[in-house]
Amino acid sequence: MEIRKENKAVEFIKKYGLYVAVGVVVFAVALTFTLLATLGGTVRTGTSTLNFVSPMSNATVVKDYSDTELQLNETLGHWEAHLSVDLTSENSDVFSVLDGTVASVNYDYLNGYTVTINHTDGFVSIYSSLEEAVDVKEGDTVTAGEKIGKASETATSELELGSHLHFTLKLNDDYVNPNNYLNLELK
Ligand SMILES: [Zn+2]
Repeated sequence: MEIRKENKAVEFIKKYGLYVAVGVVVFAVALTFTLLATLGGTVRTGTSTLNFVSPMSNATVVKDYSDTELQLNETLGHWEAHLSVDLTSENSDVFSVLDGTVASVNYDYLNGYTVTINHTDGFVSIYSSLEEAVDVKEGDTVTAGEKIGKASETATSELELGSHLHFTLKLNDDYVNPNNYLNLELK
């Protein structure tokens, strides 16, 4: 009886062992990918390998990010969320915060000249109120810290701030607070 049982077990492993092993491996791989996909959407994994550079050197924040607290826009005379950070610096140079590819360079009346750069891990950085003469064009590859233009006062919706960079950061199409990624010098 014992022997027959053992034989049966051995027989089973011989017959189906490979299938069971393959099944376990497939399951493990699928689970790993599922976990990676889930974690990839979170902020922590996205930033762990990314080294953000400040979009301006020795930047002064003239208007900070706010999503729930409304701030007065003195130019337009209304209260609004400000899903960006407004920065100035001595030389007004503007740098890409990460390696990336220029998605667009365009102009609109309210935001002025704007450069949009796509990065890895779902990050997109947007630089508005730039001088007309930007240093990049659509399709260009840029590295973190590369100069892309100069801040100016082309964003008519924020004229009262004078020459400045209106910097916006998005993660997976959502606005995120740049302060969570950049070490901006708050003054
Ligand atoms: Zn702004």
